[in-house]
Amino acid sequence: MFQCQDFQATLYEFVAGELLPEQRQEAEKHLLGCEACATNLQEYRQTIEAGWTLPQVPPPPRLLERFREALAEQEAMDEPRPANGDS
Ligand SMILES: [Zn+2]
Repeated sequence: MFQCQDFQATLYEFVAGELLPEQRQEAEKHLLGCEACATNLQEYRQTIEAGWTLPQVPPPPRLLERFREALAEQEAMDEPRPANGDS
C-alpha cells in the first residue's frame, strides 16, 4: 500500500519512468486518491520541463518544503490527534 511518503521517495523514479511496473501501478493508484501528491507530481514535472533534463539531483528544497506542508495537512486530516500536551 502506497503512502504519501512512499510516493515522495519514488517521485524521481516515477517521473523518470524507472519504477517497476507494480510500483508504478501503486503510485498511480495513490495519485488518484491523493491531491497533495498529484499536485506535487505536476509541479515536479513542470520544474523538469522548465529546463531540467532529469538531473541526478534531488528536487528543489522549496518544492520539498511545500510537499511536506501538504503532507502534514493531510496527515492532520487523516489522524486527528488532539494535542493537549498531557505527558
Ligand atoms: Zn499522497
